[in-house]
Amino acid sequence: MANHSVPSMPICIQENISLKKFNTFRFDATARYLAIISTLDELRDATHWANYHAIPIKMVGEGSNLLVTEDVNALVLINRLSGLTLTERENDYLLTVAAGENWHKTVTYTVDNNMGGLENLALIPGSVGACPIQNIGAYGVEAGEFIDAIEVLDRETLTTKWLLKHECQFAYRDSRFKHDWATKYFILAVRFILNKHHEIKASYSGLSDLLPLEPTIKDVYKSVCQTRIKKLPDPNLIGNAGSFFKNPIVSQQQYDALLRIYPDLVAFPMKDNWKLAAGWLIEKAGWKGYKKDGVGVYEKQALCLVNHATDDGKKLMLLEQAIKQDINDKFNVELEREPIRLV
Ligand SMILES: Cc1cc2nc3c(=O)[nH]c(=O)nc-3n(C[C@H](O)[C@H](O)[C@H](O)COP(=O)(O)OP(=O)(O)OC[C@H]3O[C@@H](n4cnc5c(N)ncnc54)[C@H](O)[C@@H]3O)c2cc1C
Repeated sequence: MANHSVPSMPICIQENISLKKFNTFRFDATARYLAIISTLDELRDATHWANYHAIPIKMVGEGSNLLVTEDVNALVLINRLSGLTLTERENDYLLTVAAGENWHKTVTYTVDNNMGGLENLALIPGSVGACPIQNIGAYGVEAGEFIDAIEVLDRETLTTKWLLKHECQFAYRDSRFKHDWATKYFILAVRFILNKHHEIKASYSGLSDLLPLEPTIKDVYKSVCQTRIKKLPDPNLIGNAGSFFKNPIVSQQQYDALLRIYPDLVAFPMKDNWKLAAGWLIEKAGWKGYKKDGVGVYEKQALCLVNHATDDGKKLMLLEQAIKQDINDKFNVELEREPIRLV
C-alpha cells in the first residue's frame, strides 16, 4: 500500500543559511533551506521533501556562474556527489565523473594520464555537473564536444536516466539545461569520450605564442593555465564569475556597419554571422577599471565584473544595467548576462 505520511525534513537540510561562501562573487543573502548533497539517497530525500511541501529547489555546484542578489525562498542543494570511473577501449577512453567533482581537477587527471580533449578547458572554475549547463568553453574548445551522455535525476519522478549528447542541444554557452530542462533534471554524472587519436587545438590567438611547434597535451594545458592566471581575476582574491557577458552575435550587415566606424573592432567569424568580443566593446566604451559602490570592471579584462567590497549583489546588477545601456547607445548591440541569477 502507498505510504501517504508527510515526509519529515531530512537531517541534511539546514535553515536560514548564508550563501556568501557558496558563490564566487561572495555576495551575501540567505537561503531559507540549504543541504550539502553527498549521495543520491540524500538528493532523493531532499527533493521528495521539498516537492511534497511545494518548496522550489535550486541546484548549485561551486557557485562560479551565479549571481546572488536577494534572499532565496527555496531549498538550495549544494552538489558534492563524488567519484570517477575510467574505461579504456580500443580507440578511446570513457570517463564518467560525478557531478560534484571539481572541473579543473578532472581536467588535470586526464592530462596527467595523457588523455587529450579537455586540456584547453583547464582552470575553468566549477563542478563537473555544471559543465553541460552552459556548455563551458575556452580557447576554441567546448565541453559538449567531448560529452557522450549525462546521467540525471528526474525531479518529479525521482528516477534516474541517461540523456544522450544529441538530445542536449549544445550551442555557444547554451544547452537544453538552460531551457526546457531547467527545472526538470538534476545532473548526477557526466560521461566523456576522449579519443586516443586526439587532435591538439593550439591555434587560438594568445595560446599559440606560448607553445612549441608540436605541442603536447601537457604543453597546451600549461599554457592555458599560465594565460588564464595572467588575465583573469582569481575568485579566491576578488569576487567574480568570469566573463559577465556573452559575446554578442550580429549579422554580417551589422558587423560591416560597425567595422566602417571602428576599424579595430574585434570579432570572430561564424557560419553566417559574427561574434563580437564583448570585452572589446566594454573597454572601447571606457568601462575598464571602473569602480563604484564596491563593485567594478576588472582592470585587466573588461569582460569581468568584480566585487571589490560589498555583500550586496544588487549593486552589481545596477552596474550591469548601466553597461548594457551604454553599449546599446554606443554600438546598437545588446549584451546578455552569462551568470545565472539565483532567485
Ligand atoms: C574566474 C572565472 C573564469 C571562468 N571562465 C569560464 C570560461 O572560460 N568558460 C566558461 O564557459 N565559463 C567560465 N566561467 C564560468 C563558470 O566557471 C562555469 O559556468 C562553471 O561551469 C560553473 O560551475 P559551477 O559548479 O560553479 O556552477 P554554479 O555556478 O553552481 O551553477 C551554474 C548553473 O548550473 C546549475 N547547476 C549546477 N550544477 C548542477 C547540477 N548538478 N544539476 C543541474 N543544474 C546544475 C545551477 O543551478 C546554475 O543554474 C568562469 C568563472 C570564473 C569565476
